[in-house]
Amino acid sequence: MPKTSKRKKHVQNQNKAAALTDLPVQLNQTVELEISGLTHEGAGVGRYEGYTLFVPQALPGDRIRAEVVHVKKNYGFARLLDVLAESPHRVQPPCPVFDRCGGCSLQHLAYEEQLRHKRQVVVDNLRRIGGIPTEGEGAVLVHPTLGMANPWRYRNKAQVPIGEQEGGLVGGFYAERSHTIIDIDHCLIQHEANDEAVAAVKRIAVRLGIQPYDENRHTGLLRHVVTRVGANTGEVMVVLITTEAFIPQRELLIEAICRQLPAVKSIVQNINPHRTNVIFGDETFTLWGQDEIYDTIGPVRFAISARSFYQVNPQQTEVLYKKTLEYAGLTGEQTVIDAYCGIGTISLFLAQRARRVYGVEIVPEAIADANRNARLNGIDNVTFAVGAAEEVIPAWKQEGIRADVIVVDPPRKGCDEALLTTILQMRPERVVYVSCNPATLARDLKVLGELYEVREVQPVDMFPWTGHVECCSLLVSKDK
Ligand code: SAH
Repeated sequence: MPKTSKRKKHVQNQNKAAALTDLPVQLNQTVELEISGLTHEGAGVGRYEGYTLFVPQALPGDRIRAEVVHVKKNYGFARLLDVLAESPHRVQPPCPVFDRCGGCSLQHLAYEEQLRHKRQVVVDNLRRIGGIPTEGEGAVLVHPTLGMANPWRYRNKAQVPIGEQEGGLVGGFYAERSHTIIDIDHCLIQHEANDEAVAAVKRIAVRLGIQPYDENRHTGLLRHVVTRVGANTGEVMVVLITTEAFIPQRELLIEAICRQLPAVKSIVQNINPHRTNVIFGDETFTLWGQDEIYDTIGPVRFAISARSFYQVNPQQTEVLYKKTLEYAGLTGEQTVIDAYCGIGTISLFLAQRARRVYGVEIVPEAIADANRNARLNGIDNVTFAVGAAEEVIPAWKQEGIRADVIVVDPPRKGCDEALLTTILQMRPERVVYVSCNPATLARDLKVLGELYEVREVQPVDMFPWTGHVECCSLLVSKDK
């Protein structure tokens, strides 16, 4: 690095440090705060002499005592010490490790209020980022969040790290911002079958002396236990992720799993020899039973293999897809494009009421699953393609394919700009935008707003007790 820039940096750092000592709060100071807001990530927001502090686990309406743990020029973070006066919406988190686990962030907020908060997050993003009015004349209808009647035990997939502590095998979850495993056999958002399967595999591994993985020394055999359950079929898959292929007493292990867990239809081994945080390695093979398990969403049946992507909350997935189908307005005559189609779940769901569906997805294995799932259901009016939606869909347009409806369900970063341009050029009558990130949804709706009217937005709670919110939005072409 050149000398001048080093000196400049030093001066900048000195200025920064000086600016931080001018703040109304200092590191490690204890403060009393009224909490007035809640961030999209679920942290409480309070002001101390005008300076903003974010406090995880604090709620609007709480009066709290907190310790300042991080300061920046314009805002800081504090750790909740005591709640001096409680928000009317505060509830006792039912999970005993809520404050140590990074999985749920909103277990202390009453469920009804959580649904209201998630709708508000959507409204705020649409207004601030999308410039879309949500109140008064010309307002877009943002419906109340569709929640679950019983918002517990919804996850169909568990991924549990295994480790060694004081010579014993432990498995559970990593404590927040660390790699220390908290040993636990119950997770309240996990399907009972997953809890039961993970606990049984841990017990059997201990009895058979299977060595847990030691992350620091990179020794031992069993790294992760992944289990999946078909919520509508009850079928269970157990995946053992190991550092090498050889498992001592393999037959006894398989026999014990089958005996203790009659719902298991598939036992799979995946080998990951690397020093990495990535769970799966490249090599996967079936140790016993089927290569996959089955589940249904509405009338469609899906094969799920160890590595397949599959929505984790099947009950709410059906709610979301039904809304997508309703917004698509299909009568059996339409041509539909499903962009970012994954294993083809939305495509196959819509194919029942469309003339033809085209699905596009960038991961080749997902498209292999999509084709297999189409065959499994005898659905022959879908065409799947591997590639980037922003490249494949313009090519389809060149070939003369016209869509009446385009459905998009992009990852968190939203749609590629080139895809939005193509949609504006293709001008389907309707666009149904399924989104897991209200900020990029709002950004993209603003672009599509040039030629489309946003009619309504339906938030769906796919991940109760976390800050995430999913949305399904209906856009209709302005001249139709
Ligand atoms: N619609 C599916 C999957 C949605 S997740 C479902 O409901 O299950 C988003 C998907 O977009 C992922 O499968 C990801 O692999 C895929 N993806 C990411 N970037 C893409 C791109 N540029 N073009 C096509 N697909 C992409």
